[in-house]
Amino acid sequence: MEQTTHVVPVAPLPCPVCGESFLVFVTHKMTIRTKRDLPLYGCLACQSFSNPSGYVEDEAQLARDLDWHMQTDEEQKVCRI
Ligand SMILES: [Zn+2]
Repeated sequence: MEQTTHVVPVAPLPCPVCGESFLVFVTHKMTIRTKRDLPLYGCLACQSFSNPSGYVEDEAQLARDLDWHMQTDEEQKVCRI
């Protein structure tokens, strides 16, 4: 029988979005880029989803993300015209 490797859910940390401690385990999700199986938590206070991967984007990556969102938004505006 093949054994599936799962990350065991850890004691939930405060919500990284609102800071409240109302996180509940939802499911495991496979990350698209790194192919890691991570637990996904939902916040009962602000309805955000998060995981304790520790991944943090640096300023350069945040700037690229902003550029992508701005470009996508402009493309969608053109499509609506
Ligand atoms: Zn929250």
